[in-house]
Amino acid sequence: MSINIQIPKCTNCGLHRFRRNMVIGRGVIKADILFMGEAPGRSENTLGEAFVGRGGKLLDRIMRDASLLLHIPVPSFFITNTVLCRPTDSVNGDNRPPTEAEILACRPSIKYIISIIKPKEIVFIGRVSERYYASEYPGSIRILHPAHLLRQGGESSNYYWVTVRKLAELYERMYHAKKETLFHTDKKRSRARRRFVHSC
Ligand code: SF4
Repeated sequence: MSINIQIPKCTNCGLHRFRRNMVIGRGVIKADILFMGEAPGRSENTLGEAFVGRGGKLLDRIMRDASLLLHIPVPSFFITNTVLCRPTDSVNGDNRPPTEAEILACRPSIKYIISIIKPKEIVFIGRVSERYYASEYPGSIRILHPAHLLRQGGESSNYYWVTVRKLAELYERMYHAKKETLFHTDKKRSRARRRFVHSC
């Protein structure tokens, strides 16, 4: 799923030299949850979408299992990273973690994306995004990065279900908050309707 967030071709840090695509993210605008990972990898750079490699597929399964665990629909979401270009040191080079300078250089773009999405909750995927953004979004949760989970055995790792449960708890909290809001909106509407009927 691609999305139409316009960010001009950015050259604010050295990562622009080896990128094929700026990877803004995937998901929907005005999403309930914004997931923030670390950086695009090789597949994401090629396809121009976030979390589309093996890690992305595992993340999709985590979201699906969190929803199945408590029979709660997956909230709407958008997934991005702390940098929009793949960190590497040559066109055919390996992935590496983004440097602090690169993360800080990309901050205006990330803040712009967050301002468009306007999420109710932010979920940090791994420690890097949490380190740079958690102080601004207190109460956000962190889940294990799927790349880390893959190294531990993916779905057969014990950490897989720990991660699923953590996300499921957030889904549940959001689901009940939404129900509560709908309940109060309905009550307000009925009161307004009654007032209108009595005034006629
Ligand atoms: S990583 Fe961010 S700051 Fe660096 S070139 Fe890409 S979009 Fe610009």
